[in-house]
Amino acid sequence: KPIVLWFRNDLRLGDHAALVAAVHTGAPILPLYILDDASPKQWKMGGASHWWLDKSLAALAGDLASRGGPLVLRRGDSETELLRMIEETGAAAVYFTRSYEPWAVALEQRLKTKLDDANVACRRFGGRLLREPEDMRTSNGGFYKVYTPFSRAIMKDLVPAKSVRAPERIATLEKQPKSERLRDWALHPQKPDWSKGFAAAWQPGEAGARKRLSDFVRTALKSYARDRNCPATPGTSRLSPHLAFGEISPAACWHAAAHAGGKTNGSDNAAETFLKELLWREFSAGLLFHFPELPEEPFRPEFSAFPWHGNAKHLKAWQTGQTGYPIVDAGMRELWATGYMHNRVRMITASFLIKHLLIPWQTGEAWFWDTLVDADLANNSANWQWVAGSGADAAPYFRIFNPVLQGEKFDPDGDYVRRWVPELAKLPRQIIHAPWKADSGTLMEAGVKLGKSYPNPIVEHGEARARALAGYEHIKNSH
Ligand code: FAD
Repeated sequence: KPIVLWFRNDLRLGDHAALVAAVHTGAPILPLYILDDASPKQWKMGGASHWWLDKSLAALAGDLASRGGPLVLRRGDSETELLRMIEETGAAAVYFTRSYEPWAVALEQRLKTKLDDANVACRRFGGRLLREPEDMRTSNGGFYKVYTPFSRAIMKDLVPAKSVRAPERIATLEKQPKSERLRDWALHPQKPDWSKGFAAAWQPGEAGARKRLSDFVRTALKSYARDRNCPATPGTSRLSPHLAFGEISPAACWHAAAHAGGKTNGSDNAAETFLKELLWREFSAGLLFHFPELPEEPFRPEFSAFPWHGNAKHLKAWQTGQTGYPIVDAGMRELWATGYMHNRVRMITASFLIKHLLIPWQTGEAWFWDTLVDADLANNSANWQWVAGSGADAAPYFRIFNPVLQGEKFDPDGDYVRRWVPELAKLPRQIIHAPWKADSGTLMEAGVKLGKSYPNPIVEHGEARARALAGYEHIKNSH
């Protein structure tokens, strides 16, 4: 009797515990992916993720086919489709990698009950995280709300799983169940199709993920601690979408970096800063697991009373990179063009939306959810709340980024702005982050017509800052 191998955000064959266990039984395997827009409700995949999924499933199907086991595609509610597949094939078991989104946790529980009733084995495996969230308890038995003790605790006895190669052959059914066709799902963004630039930036799929990891470890890991904050430098791994879709395991990233990092300056491990970022991913997953309201509700309840001002015109300017603040606009345009934005610039643009425009962080979170190829419910919501000051272990609210100073500090030559805001490309570096301060001769020479070729700032920094701080005073006093 076959085993259904249910793929979710684990679109790889290497380091895949459920696959290894299924192959080990000797039973025929039925690899299945279900496009389920119903179970996640408002957190169904966004447009950019759909683009990625399309390519990633094609890669997975190719990798599976070369090992003898075609991928079956179905669309609909996961629970119904799984039960239907069991009925069609007489499968004796369902194997899968566990997930941590609240809707996915609930789905796994429902499925287990149904499968138990039907006498079908339900086996769940880890692999999306380095440690299961249930294993990360504080001395009081609670969950970690502060990152540093969390990272210390996890580092103490962390032994990430050893890498396991993909099986060479996958035994399959003689008579395959029907599969839907990927191209009929039309996963590319439509009206407008903003994914045109994505293909040049990414290679979705397991082979692309492995290549990205080895390139990073070879070229950028050594200088990661220094370069990771400079958006103009390719200083970070850009593994996030591969991790979000499970095309590579965090354990594989961990081992590759730890191994390559070695000891460089005295006791400094070149990989340590990078490994700590992987732990932010673990920390965020744990927060979402233990506080399932994280994507919608402020972790600190006093922030529910924050006096937002929401202005549709401002929101549009932010989304389209037309705020008049070059570093903000560069980030929002990078996001639109590539489905990605550098982490430092994510912080700057998120802070600008929340604090300069007083638009609720949930609105920005939803925009990122739709436009990021690495959209991840835990990372996205934890980071938006971190910037908003309402999260666990968040940046203090009153620390308000000045977008000009941030630009000057992290993009000192203006190269990142020049790349994404080409209408400012000819401005000298001294003024590129604040074009409104340039004299008319400089603007003319650079071909910049403020208010025409590039907008004036939509809010004035000093005034916006004062408004944001007044909002904070309001919640402090009303609590
Ligand atoms: P690297 O610097 O190479 O880091 C390696 C890996 O560590 C990343 O791939 C990621 O998995 C993890 N990581 C790094 N920084 C963080 C962090 N701050 N929080 C959690 N994990 C981290 N990351 C997402 O994966 N999905 C999101 O939806 C997402 N939304 C964000 C929204 C905001 C407002 C902010 C400020 C950050 C968000 N991040 C998100 C975190 C971070 O920006 C990205 O993980 C990072 O930029 C990805 O690039 P990289 O792979 O080159 O990272």
